Amino acid sequence: MNTIEKDQLYLAGTYGRFPLEIVSGKGSVALGADGKEYIDMGAGIAVNTFGYADDVFTSAVAEQLSKVQHTSNLYYTAPAANLAEALVKKSGMKKVFFGNSGAEANECAIKTARKWGVENKGEGAYNIVTLKNSFHGRTVTTLSATGQDVFHKNFDPFTQGFVYAPMGDEAALESLVDDKTCAVMIEFVQGEGGVNVLPESYVKKIFELKKQKNFLVIADEVQTGNGRTGKYFAYQLYGVTPDIVTTAKGLGGGLPIGACLFGDAVKDVLGKGDHGSTFGGNPAVAAGALSVVNRIDDKLLKEVSEKGEYIKNKLAGKPGISSVSGVGLMLGVAVAADAKKVVSSCLNKGVLFLTAKDKVRLLPALNIPYELLDKAIDALLEAVKEEL
Ligand SMILES: *Cc1c(COP(=O)(O)O)cnc(C)c1O
Repeated sequence: MNTIEKDQLYLAGTYGRFPLEIVSGKGSVALGADGKEYIDMGAGIAVNTFGYADDVFTSAVAEQLSKVQHTSNLYYTAPAANLAEALVKKSGMKKVFFGNSGAEANECAIKTARKWGVENKGEGAYNIVTLKNSFHGRTVTTLSATGQDVFHKNFDPFTQGFVYAPMGDEAALESLVDDKTCAVMIEFVQGEGGVNVLPESYVKKIFELKKQKNFLVIADEVQTGNGRTGKYFAYQLYGVTPDIVTTAKGLGGGLPIGACLFGDAVKDVLGKGDHGSTFGGNPAVAAGALSVVNRIDDKLLKEVSEKGEYIKNKLAGKPGISSVSGVGLMLGVAVAADAKKVVSSCLNKGVLFLTAKDKVRLLPALNIPYELLDKAIDALLEAVKEEL
């Protein structure tokens, strides 16, 4: 049996995979088992921040692996402490909890908001407003937080206490927050929902309501964080400060980590025994993540913004390109053809793209060179033309 046959026989059928086995890679180029090279415009869904087999990342992890790979959270380790310090400096938050995924980071945020609600607004103040079309994870609670009905089939009963607001509708939001609301949870740029950037006026309204009605703002930066949008975190594009920030994906540079960052109002809400994770803050993973965070400096962030503008300019007005949404290297391309077919055709041309709803989605490594961007965009334009 080859890998694809074996996978289909022995792995749960939860994924619709592309017909490609990746065996190795370097930077933004993946090598397939078919012996062909592929330009990777998805980076493992915004995870491989510096691409495949990046030397700095690999040696940071390998060096830590050769000392201590795991201790449990009963002991202190330097990588987790150093990573928490680095994240606090990048974010303006005050403390950090580490888990292993985006869903777990959000789970931690939800628990924190609920405890804050009881302590600050009273019994029953547990409602969290999330947005329609949002995506917050796959556990029963984070699925419940996710404002998309497609995810809400067959898994009842769901965790209570979530209320969904149509994105951008200020009056609807105002009517949904009350004395039972502990938090409003948002992605500043919705990823899985179709790369939708929250309007500035809407974000302003959320923070005005927060002042009037006293609730927390949770920023789900699982996908948008760690330089993806040209700022370290997407909320920094808006000049606002959330109370809780969650992040994962690109933070680990390819290894599993999730982080829940606490601002002033909630930095001491969780106490001993309130939460935990066996692997959370694992030294090898944290050492790799620290190397990633340390490299996301102003120069790189500027490059990310410039590359985003460069791609937008290259696509603007071309045949079959309806519009481009998003910011930095988180872009959604609306095409006048079936996006899934366009992405399949690009794979045959040696370029890996993603989809989000009915758009072609781009989430390349932050250090992808311009010459690869050129080739990838040319392949996309050609594929769209063929599918028109
Ligand atoms: C991917 C994603 C999640 C879930 O992260 P996992 O690591 O798959 O659990 C949550 N929120 C957003 C915004 C995401 O993009």
